Amino acid sequence: MNVLVINCGSSSLKYQLINSDSEEVLAKGLCERIGIDGRLVYQKQGAAKEETEAAMPTHREAIQMVLDALTNKETGAIASLKEVEAVGHRIVHGGEKFTKSVIINDEVIKTVEECNELAPLHNPANLIGIRVCMELMPGVPQVAVFDTAFHQTMPAKAYLYGLPIEYYKNYKVRRYGFHGTSHSFVSKEIVSFLGLDPDSSKVIVCHLGNGSSISAVCGGKCVDTTMGLTPLEGVVMGTRSGNIDPAIVEYVAKKENLDISGIMNVLNKKSGLQGLSGVSSDMRDLEAAADAGNEDAKNAIEVLCYGIAKFVGGYVAAMNGVDAIAFTAGIGENDGRVRKTVCSYLGYLGIAIDDEANAKRGENMVISTADSKVKVCVIPTNEELAICRDTVALVG
Ligand code: ADP
Repeated sequence: MNVLVINCGSSSLKYQLINSDSEEVLAKGLCERIGIDGRLVYQKQGAAKEETEAAMPTHREAIQMVLDALTNKETGAIASLKEVEAVGHRIVHGGEKFTKSVIINDEVIKTVEECNELAPLHNPANLIGIRVCMELMPGVPQVAVFDTAFHQTMPAKAYLYGLPIEYYKNYKVRRYGFHGTSHSFVSKEIVSFLGLDPDSSKVIVCHLGNGSSISAVCGGKCVDTTMGLTPLEGVVMGTRSGNIDPAIVEYVAKKENLDISGIMNVLNKKSGLQGLSGVSSDMRDLEAAADAGNEDAKNAIEVLCYGIAKFVGGYVAAMNGVDAIAFTAGIGENDGRVRKTVCSYLGYLGIAIDDEANAKRGENMVISTADSKVKVCVIPTNEELAICRDTVALVG
């Protein structure tokens, strides 16, 4: 079955056409600058990347261009749209309503809309993607795969904040967690890669990218995660602060004469590695600056690694043990130095890193030594494939 996976952002859209039988990516790419000017990137399997500048006033034109590119007579991956048998959509926030992926119908759309205020930048864009695909591909089943769903197994002690309980009861203020598709995929991968018992294994997944989150997964179920009501909570990220003392909000607001949205802008876009280093939000730039002697960049990396190690330690306590730790996403998959530094705090768990293995890149791999008490692995994430698999499971 060919599945079109769509990840609609406010001004961008990523897509992949995947053959679910072979799990090959037949074509992939993205639309950027939707509503501004417009650029389509398209890459058919085995061919060079094509880039086209074209007006994309709305997501409708963008998706139409993707469908045209996929069915283009010369460079298309398929002969006609009839070969797209299902569409899988990444949806950021499913609130407490969605605990797993679902086939989209009017009721689902209405319920996703109700979650809009929990993710005002993302959910409305996701919904546009759904509506346009329904219009342009009538009759093709559409599936919603939620970033929050995997974390819905967290117990109340993990998802409740120490706030008046009415805020949870009336406004659903609680920890939801994000990157759930990645945490679900990677936690399953590491269990099968290491041959662990799916029903009793205790694993910790460190998804470290521009946005970063960590999860504790016990017997295949998420029991805790670092992101919260929004993706701002948890470890230090590219430009997001992660956890801070909430009183800082008022203190800095007064000092800098900022209102709530001004402060939120700082916490979301000017903090984290970018804010700490004053250099960049990109780990590669930070490491280059740190190597050149920049103390702020060095500290930024240390803050990140120390923070990750503290969450890992907390999750070992939460699960009363750990069998394996997975590193994934841009930093987790590529940055051996971060992995080594994080694990340097975990010697008390009997963890030892094999430097030679840790220097390699590639597919699933063990980077701990043969006698390490806890296995540490690099497990490349693949959210699109996870969305494709969920889609096929529902419509196949
Ligand atoms: P997103 O959250 O946007 O999906 P990614 O998972 O692509 O982000 O991760 C982006 C991060 O990965 C950036 O900080 C980038 O510097 C980092 N990264 C990518 N490649 C490397 C590398 N070879 N070494 C160190 N960091 C890397």
